[in-house]
Amino acid sequence: MRENKAKKESRILKEIRRIKTREKEVIQALERNNGITWEEDGLVYMKERIYVPNNKKVKEEILRENHDSVDVGHLEQQRMLELLKRNYWWLGLKEDIKKYVQCCFKCQQNKVLYQRKAGKLHPLEIPQGTWQEISIDIIGPLPTSNGMDAIVIIVDQFTKMVHLKTTTTNISSEETAKIYRDVI
Ligand SMILES: [Zn+2]
Repeated sequence: MRENKAKKESRILKEIRRIKTREKEVIQALERNNGITWEEDGLVYMKERIYVPNNKKVKEEILRENHDSVDVGHLEQQRMLELLKRNYWWLGLKEDIKKYVQCCFKCQQNKVLYQRKAGKLHPLEIPQGTWQEISIDIIGPLPTSNGMDAIVIIVDQFTKMVHLKTTTTNISSEETAKIYRDVI
């Protein structure tokens, strides 16, 4: 059964309340006590946006909710940032969004398909930022073998090393991120 949006949001808030660690920038902002940053009901607000502590699981959940959920549908970086900023704030939010979208399999696949349609046969090159040196491509669907019907190709442009990994054509962004982490 799919968890509805309100339920999911209240669960995320519960998790945020449970995490007590705060970055020093946030502690300092609270100490300034200038009405921009305040604490209320176990949550820290930064200009009326809820502060998300440095916790990978919670951040990933929020990123997922604001990118690949059915109501959102794979927003590009800028629109995803606008949506997420309505409710949440954390240190390095923009950079995390960028990484998340660049690692989203569906988004990358769409780009590759688009490039192929446009007649380009070069593998996708991700521009700018941390993963400037990496290109990702997918080949599939192929004849199914052990439940796998596609291959992810990750090329490190710096070392020219090529990593191959079998996968499926309906892989989720989470699984893609995992392949990426395993390989790199
Ligand atoms: Zn996506």
